[in-house]
Amino acid sequence: MAERRPLISGNWKMHHNHFEAIQAVQKLSYVLSSNDHDAVEVSIHPPFTDIRSVQTVIESDGIPITLGAQHCHWEDSGAFTGEISPGMLAKLNVSLVIVGHSERRELFGETDKEVNRKATAVLASGMTPIVCCGETLEQREGGQAAEKVTRQILEGLAGLKAEQVAGLVLAYEPIWAIGTGKTATPEDAQEMCATVRHAVHSKWGAEASEGVRIQYGGSVKPVNAPDLMRQPDIDGALVGGASLDPDEFARIIAYRLVG
Ligand code: PEP
Repeated sequence: MAERRPLISGNWKMHHNHFEAIQAVQKLSYVLSSNDHDAVEVSIHPPFTDIRSVQTVIESDGIPITLGAQHCHWEDSGAFTGEISPGMLAKLNVSLVIVGHSERRELFGETDKEVNRKATAVLASGMTPIVCCGETLEQREGGQAAEKVTRQILEGLAGLKAEQVAGLVLAYEPIWAIGTGKTATPEDAQEMCATVRHAVHSKWGAEASEGVRIQYGGSVKPVNAPDLMRQPDIDGALVGGASLDPDEFARIIAYRLVG
């Protein structure tokens, strides 16, 4: 079985203007070592207005950080005021796009069907979606967590081929843990990431389920990253708040040096 390379992604959300973004990526590049880059793929997902500036810094300085975006529309172009197309992102050498983040779902009403259209469109533009799933506290306490994420995965990835699914990134992010300082225990996070992998296996088979990378997200910090990342079905982390500070983000990326 091929090893899955860990992916640690910084979702900057609506933080950092383009000047701050340039400073943050330069600082991150200073604090990361070549050993970090050998062991872990690192991506950053700035706001749209920063992407061109960050792309220029990454490419002109040869910084081995993967450029990502936080969302996009599924159409190539058209009358969709305020939206950005996958093709526009691909032209800026974006390679990863977060799709179906719980904030998009909860605050902007994104549905599983739209997540599916976006994931399909991102792939069609030659990029990789990071497809998010996760349950609310109410659903967890009601024993519906596994059912909810399984449905999000099956509907979000509907129509994709097994070889496409094998190359995807999925992110299990319990909604109650995002930005709250509450983290799932490593055991609970492992159990849910295994559920996600099982959902992939049930529909797309062994090659897809062994290849797909599954991140955990929800208040990941330097102190909890090592135990989370040690779990067999966790292949990385999607980090919000702690990715805004390059030093803190770098300490998460160096998780393997702890313990
Ligand atoms: C996120 O934005 O996906 C996230 C997990 O945020 P935080 O790390 O701040 O909980």
